[in-house]
Amino acid sequence: MRCAAIPKNKIKEAIGVLVKDYSVVAPAKRNGLLEFQKITDIGDDIIKAIDNDELPYKSPKEFLFPQLEKLMVFNNGCNLVEEEVEDKTVIIGVKPCDLEGLKVLTAVFSEGKYKDEKVIKRRENIILVGTGCRSKKPGCFCDERGVDKNFSKDCDIFIEKPDGYGKNYEFYSFTDTGDYVLDKFASKGLVADAVMDIPKSKPEAESQKAQLIIEADENTLFNKIDWGKIAEKCMGCGTCTYICPTCHCFDFKDVLEDGKAVRYRCWDSCMYPKFTLHASGHNPRPSKKERYRQRILHKYIYVKQNFGYIACTGCGRCIRSCPAGMNIKSVVHEIMGVLKSE
Ligand code: SF4
Ligand code: SF4
Repeated sequence: MRCAAIPKNKIKEAIGVLVKDYSVVAPAKRNGLLEFQKITDIGDDIIKAIDNDELPYKSPKEFLFPQLEKLMVFNNGCNLVEEEVEDKTVIIGVKPCDLEGLKVLTAVFSEGKYKDEKVIKRRENIILVGTGCRSKKPGCFCDERGVDKNFSKDCDIFIEKPDGYGKNYEFYSFTDTGDYVLDKFASKGLVADAVMDIPKSKPEAESQKAQLIIEADENTLFNKIDWGKIAEKCMGCGTCTYICPTCHCFDFKDVLEDGKAVRYRCWDSCMYPKFTLHASGHNPRPSKKERYRQRILHKYIYVKQNFGYIACTGCGRCIRSCPAGMNIKSVVHEIMGVLKSE
């Protein structure tokens, strides 16, 4: 880990160096909603993205795993005719929970049995620049999920904002790309002190331990938990899956466009009845009880078994967005309570 202190009055210039040669994505307000989006003007929007203490409405998931993605284009002879070239992108102002989410998504698409070259290539072209949250937002439970809201190393560069009368932004680097950027800052005279190694301890990050975990096997969870009661209010709208930074179910659609057959990949949701409907008519998850159970077990058990991570960062987005008032934190607490009482 290396660190460079950048004076407040040089932050815009430093960001200019950081984003040179990249498409820039940062949270910016459009129509009252804070959303990650492409920024063309390297001005106040970028500084706000770093200084802002608001969690964007959605995570930057779609820049790694787009909601709609053209996978293949075939001409009449069934030859693949186009290869999309991905932009190099720097995503600025990503909070620790969303860095955790991107870490989970990257593992799902790049590790294990099935590898997705499109997502892997896109990830290689992304520089991640994180920032912390000063305050916990309504519905957030990152602390219970063991995510430190103040700091994260799951990025190329993490920016600590000057608090109160502080004079400098601190840029921490955790990758070769991050180191390269810090060296650039130094060569352009943007660093307050020399670029230095700072073994800055982050006690809160080290002592943070996830309390919200489910420790039981699938059979126990299938049989001991009253999923029908838990899922009673769920309307199956799928909002929680689309808004979640780690959900990654998708479907394929083939369409004819200008005489060419185009295959798209689009987000899907395990909360929809047709998601698991077989061609035979059989559906292994026929009711919302099985579908909601799948959502919880996928996040807290299956992804952990397959990739070592729990696929819930505690960002609270599904809680804030659910029209039925479903609360995943309360549900997991309820499950933990049942298991404890056994
Ligand atoms: S957002 Fe709420 S109502 Fe909609 S599918 Fe998710 S849990 Fe069910
Ligand atoms: S399940 Fe809910 S709280 Fe957990 S990461 Fe997804 S949106 Fe955030």
